[in-house]
Amino acid sequence: MASIETLGDLRQSGYRSRPVKQEIRENLVGKLRAGDPLFPGIIGYDETVIPQLVNAVLSRHNFILLGLRGQAKSRILRGMVDLLDERIPVVPGCEIHDDPLAPLCAACRARIAKDGDRLAIGWLRREDRYVEKLATPDVTIADMVGDIDPIKAAEAGLNLSDELTMHYGLLPRANRGIFAINELPDLAGKIQVGLFNILQEGDVQIKGYPIRLKLDVMLVFTANPEDYTARGKIITPLKDRIGSEIRTHYPATRGHAMAITKQEAWTDRTGALRVEIPDYVREVVEEIAFQARADRKIDKRSGVSQRLPISTLELVISNAERRALAHGEHVVVPRVTDVYAALPSITGKFELEYEGELRGAEQIARDLIRSAVGSVFTGIFDGVDSRTVVEWFDLGGSLPLSDTSSADDVIAQTRGVQGLRELATHAGLKPGATAPAVASAVDFVLEGLYAQKKISRSEERGYSAAEAAPRRGQRREEVTLDEEIRMPGNKKKYYN
Ligand SMILES: [Zn+2]
Repeated sequence: MASIETLGDLRQSGYRSRPVKQEIRENLVGKLRAGDPLFPGIIGYDETVIPQLVNAVLSRHNFILLGLRGQAKSRILRGMVDLLDERIPVVPGCEIHDDPLAPLCAACRARIAKDGDRLAIGWLRREDRYVEKLATPDVTIADMVGDIDPIKAAEAGLNLSDELTMHYGLLPRANRGIFAINELPDLAGKIQVGLFNILQEGDVQIKGYPIRLKLDVMLVFTANPEDYTARGKIITPLKDRIGSEIRTHYPATRGHAMAITKQEAWTDRTGALRVEIPDYVREVVEEIAFQARADRKIDKRSGVSQRLPISTLELVISNAERRALAHGEHVVVPRVTDVYAALPSITGKFELEYEGELRGAEQIARDLIRSAVGSVFTGIFDGVDSRTVVEWFDLGGSLPLSDTSSADDVIAQTRGVQGLRELATHAGLKPGATAPAVASAVDFVLEGLYAQKKISRSEERGYSAAEAAPRRGQRREEVTLDEEIRMPGNKKKYYN
């Protein structure tokens, strides 16, 4: 291919260009036959979204991804680029990437008529065949399709339907490629009609003049499912032309979610201290998003993006890094308490329902962290006896610790708490673990017991006995089951 430089070479090579959806289909068939990975980097969709996507491509459909924010919709659309040919021949300089063997625009036809087989051709890389646009209500037909200058056209004595008078918009510039429109329902009805006409008839009216544009484009879209299905948001004929509606979703399991965050978060801080992230910290960070998605105080319609755990983990590491630097520690091991320092990455990632607004974003985020810690702790410590540690607090012990306490300080202060080190080991501590790792595991146990309301924590005293410490002999399980009941008039009552 690289040796093909002129139209004559191209003709001699027997090259035939294909419609873009056919090209994508054939390349996908090749990948499926070879067992190549499809959509690398997309995690957790192997049995849901990807099979539907493959079917849509095999069917040569335009498609729409319906899903909430942070469900990798844009990434999937960009991944479609890998299904294009590595490069295709074009008429150099043509704004709509005309095929030298079948040019659309009058200028290219004129050049080919003049130069014939001597016409130099160019090669367009696949990355340059993907055009993306975020739909907003102010997008115009001129942005999307193009514009004409009637006066200039009249002066030149040109027929107005001649493309020479046209300033191309985004869609024609995506000719022979993929055009992605994000948040399709935000596009004005008039623009949707324009898109539909191009797709269906290959012509469009601009300023009342008919323009002929037989474009070859694969159209892909994204939308929030509720917006898309709302009556009147999408014109019916356009909806009809979208062959497949594919629903995306949030990670179904904590394992998938952790894998995504591991891939996306900036955790490998080159040039700095070594970072070791305990699994329970990763799990807690992930569980916050799961808890938030299930929380009725948080708006379901806008969702909770996977970007929440990603940026939270980054802040958690930074807080641990800051502590390690302050104390001259050589290894950075995040603690569960570092998650509270990540509030700035949590509070902005969800919209609150009315009830949530009464409580406030920061308090909601704190509640989410505490219940995430509780969920992860209960999972790991199911059936593990923590009584000796809780009793130490019930007998009046307290630990004034914070997220700025050095690892050595945490270890020294907790040395006298019988059974605590054994519980820390159960968190997954390896023999010969570094002081920061031990401190982190100890912190996890204390935060876990706090989340289970077996001990309490305050700014002044640090960790101490639970506020309503159960009487001796009372079964501990009941304490973890206590329910916060909201009474009329917003008074809270605690049942123990
Ligand atoms: Zn052209």
